[in-house]
Amino acid sequence: MSFHPPKRTLMGPGPSDVDPRISEALGRPTIGHLDPEFIRLMDETKTLLQYAFMTNNELTLPISAPGSAGMEACFVNLIEAGDKVIVCQNGVFGSRMKENVERCGAIAVMVEDEWGTAIDLDKVSEAIKAHPDAKVLAFVHAETSTGVESDAKSLCALAKSNGMLSIMDTVTGLGGIKVAVDEWGADATYSGSQKCLSCTPGLSPVTFSSAATEAIKGRTSKVQSWFLDMNLVMGYWGGNAKRAYHHTAPINALYGLHEALTILNDEGLEQSWARHALNHSALKAGLEAMGLSLPVEESIRLPQLNAVAVPDGIDEAAVRSHLLNDFSLEIGAGLGALAGKVWRVGLMGFSSKPANVRLCLSALETALLAQGLKLPAGDAIQAANAVYSD
Ligand SMILES: *Cc1c(COP(=O)(O)O)cnc(C)c1O
Repeated sequence: MSFHPPKRTLMGPGPSDVDPRISEALGRPTIGHLDPEFIRLMDETKTLLQYAFMTNNELTLPISAPGSAGMEACFVNLIEAGDKVIVCQNGVFGSRMKENVERCGAIAVMVEDEWGTAIDLDKVSEAIKAHPDAKVLAFVHAETSTGVESDAKSLCALAKSNGMLSIMDTVTGLGGIKVAVDEWGADATYSGSQKCLSCTPGLSPVTFSSAATEAIKGRTSKVQSWFLDMNLVMGYWGGNAKRAYHHTAPINALYGLHEALTILNDEGLEQSWARHALNHSALKAGLEAMGLSLPVEESIRLPQLNAVAVPDGIDEAAVRSHLLNDFSLEIGAGLGALAGKVWRVGLMGFSSKPANVRLCLSALETALLAQGLKLPAGDAIQAANAVYSD
């Protein structure tokens, strides 16, 4: 029997709702991966990714695997055994970076900040002073586990001024907030298809600066992963040179990513960021009108991932089930240090729209009233509407 998934509204930490334009693109006829028309699509995808990342980096392409593979690609290519890497951790993803460093046989120097706060630049400076031999600074720009944005521009500058390379995780950032790879001087940057690009999961856009590319070409040891070795992947995706077979690209998945990037290009980067900011403001106004609070400090809140404090006495899992069962609406649970304490409401890409904000507010209101929480019914929608009509 065929599998028919239920129709959901996805307002969790990703995947986000897929734009129907993308779903349609995914079903187009499969062609060969060395077909001249497919090569044209690869070239256009690269140009569209350069636009999204705000970079002229030659080595810009989607890894044929999810965001975690983009992360791994950055680490295994830049790092050799015995290297020292400063890893910032203020949520779930910093600990995965540590794993990656250690599996490369390298040393991870951890700079830890409390979950729900941004990376502390002073602590990073101190770590760099204490470890002047460190080769790479790795950090998460948009921490999806907490809804926090860190100061990527300053972190990249810190790395550069100390002769280090930077690795930036902006899986949740790309398309939702500013990601200016060249302006910031980020060396190895990775993202994901299923967050603010609203594509299906399974692809990871990456971009490497010329300094990072030189470091990869100048390695003394082979990259430990054959599949993710950029020296080989470059031969498949690289420039106008004749393409060498490396692996079969996920043809139809790339139709989807190309469409997602075309949608972003049509809308415009700044317009996309502004839309994410507006829908966040409306959601926040609605949540606060119902007496809920957003624990992350306003200046570092990600508009595309909203941590919402679970009120005392409320069963957070029951609320999520209520939303899923009665509204076919998915929101995320808290992770790690924030498990049980917050919900994570995503407003990413195609999911970031007024209809979703209103649906989420009415669904939450219904679920909380059902658990006996006293709240001013109807105020949330009015508060959100007031933001939209301003
Ligand atoms: C989602 C996410 C990842 C991992 O991406 P997958 O596609 O799930 O492998 C990495 N980093 C951050 C910040 C993310 O939000």
